[in-house]
Amino acid sequence: MIKTDVLVIGAGPVGIFVVQQLGLIGLKAEVVDNLDKIGGQCIELYPDKPIYDIPALPLCTGESLTKNLLEQIKPFKTNFHLNERVQEIIKEGNNWKITTSGKKVFLAPNIVIAGGVGSFEPRKFSVKEAEKFENKGIFYSIKDKNVFKDKKVCIFGGGDSALDWAIELSKFAEITLVHRRSEFRGAELSATTARQLEKEGKLKIKTPFQIQTIEGKDKISGITILSEDGKTEKIETDYILGFFGLIMKLGPIAEWGLNLEKKTIPVNTENFQTNKEGIFAIGDICTYPGKLKLILSGFHEGALAARACFKLARPNEKYRFEFTTTSKTLQGRLGIKKSD
Ligand SMILES: Cc1cc2nc3c(=O)[nH]c(=O)nc-3n(C[C@H](O)[C@H](O)[C@H](O)COP(=O)(O)OP(=O)(O)OC[C@H]3O[C@@H](n4cnc5c(N)ncnc54)[C@H](O)[C@@H]3O)c2cc1C
Repeated sequence: MIKTDVLVIGAGPVGIFVVQQLGLIGLKAEVVDNLDKIGGQCIELYPDKPIYDIPALPLCTGESLTKNLLEQIKPFKTNFHLNERVQEIIKEGNNWKITTSGKKVFLAPNIVIAGGVGSFEPRKFSVKEAEKFENKGIFYSIKDKNVFKDKKVCIFGGGDSALDWAIELSKFAEITLVHRRSEFRGAELSATTARQLEKEGKLKIKTPFQIQTIEGKDKISGITILSEDGKTEKIETDYILGFFGLIMKLGPIAEWGLNLEKKTIPVNTENFQTNKEGIFAIGDICTYPGKLKLILSGFHEGALAARACFKLARPNEKYRFEFTTTSKTLQGRLGIKKSD
């Protein structure tokens, strides 16, 4: 069990910035995100796109914003628990007990939900055997590519992830890339590289084909794929990888007894608390009259929620408002030395 002052759900820009606001006032936070990377929508949906409305940053990208936000919270040495979806929260005395999909358990007096539009989740295979083999032969993301060394792997999808992994894994595994259309929609260079590798006999490409059945008892032994014109083919395989993009789901947040309004959480704008004491909602997931779904609004919401967390995490202490410019305490927390 991990004890902390604040459990932050969501490592998007708003979830990262609230860590800074919490750290400045002396509170420790742990961050959980369902994705395998930090940055929320900025990284998942538009890493290279320019953003022009972050205060004092005339231009940044989703990726550079995330990098700078992470740089800003470096002094607080925050743990990020990625690939973990917060499943369940229950009240235990003055604390919330939070359990993730990977069975990690946290105990904290405060939860800050910075869950955006909900958890991003992979689109999955619709064939019935797929659920049985999920994480036991069928994967929708790769944590350790070495698992596939010298194995037979079928990769499904036509976008960048499918192409990039097919190219990468073809260096040391027997790859078949299957896509339901004849054209790939990933980067042209990646599609050309994959076709070239096919010519060199380093990977196989099957288009336009879709999965029809998955064979195997305890382990996957093979699959049958079906072409547009009704032709079927059997392929022996050890692993199946599906890269069909992500969908956004509010997910378990809907089951925590919080008031909801059109998939968002109404909050009190004085402190961004929800209808439950100690549970705050900030960023795209919260709603109130006049709410703007902008990153800068989320930063402000985080600043206020952080101060409210202080009251529950340090009930016997008085919060003092201070500026980073002049407060030696805050500068100490930021690791700034006198000579800096
Ligand atoms: C194409 C595009 C362009 C945009 N351009 C701009 C712009 O120019 N300026 C601007 O201000 N805004 C812009 N936005 C909006 C901006 O990206 C969002 O306002 C911002 O990302 C919200 O941040 P957030 O941290 O609240 O949520 P998100 O970025 O959505 O992050 C939420 C995170 O929470 C995680 N999560 C959710 N539920 C759970 C759970 N149960 N367990 C674990 N993790 C969970 C998700 O996986 C996700 O990573 C743009 C959005 C898009 C799509």
